[in-house]
Amino acid sequence: MTSFDFTKNNTELITHIGTAGGWAKPSTGYTFLSTSKKIPLLISNLKAKGKKQNLKQEKRFWFYDLLFLDVLYRTNQKGHAIFTNLFRNRKPQLIFKFLDEETNLWEDIYYILGCPKWPFIKAFFRRLF
Ligand SMILES: Cc1cc2nc3c(=O)[nH]c(=O)nc-3n(C[C@H](O)[C@H](O)[C@H](O)COP(=O)(O)OP(=O)(O)OC[C@H]3O[C@@H](n4cnc5c(N)ncnc54)[C@H](O)[C@@H]3O)c2cc1C
Repeated sequence: MTSFDFTKNNTELITHIGTAGGWAKPSTGYTFLSTSKKIPLLISNLKAKGKKQNLKQEKRFWFYDLLFLDVLYRTNQKGHAIFTNLFRNRKPQLIFKFLDEETNLWEDIYYILGCPKWPFIKAFFRRLF
């Protein structure tokens, strides 16, 4: 579980894919869905441009994952409470849509408000300063 930018390891001639390419979601480790979305893009980009592609996670989802990993790094025991709270406060469809990175900004905000606030606010300010 890491938010490290694996695309840094790509070169002009080598594009890493899968876990090695940073396609695993930092917070969950899930890679299959992300891979199934990125492969067609990679192929069409390769056909069109014929060179390296850095297919990164969308910035805002990367940042949410970063904060979540920060919270778990400092207070790992809160993981259980965070997900229990979420499933109590939000529909599973929304939770999985968010984890699949298919929500829009308003759905993100609604989802985030369903989480315990303090751990994430603290993580946010720690990252900011
Ligand atoms: C228990 C478990 C459950 C999971 N459940 C899910 C899930 O439900 N949904 C989901 O999206 N993801 C899930 N994942 C994560 C997902 O399985 C991996 O992220 C995904 O398999 C990564 O694919 P990959 O091709 O990048 O790497 P890998 O599947 O790890 O493939 C890399 C291959 O390269 C080989 N290799 C490594 N080094 C060398 C070398 N030097 N020379 C030659 N070969 C080498 C390895 O032996 C391996 O066969 C799960 C992972 C685990 C462990």
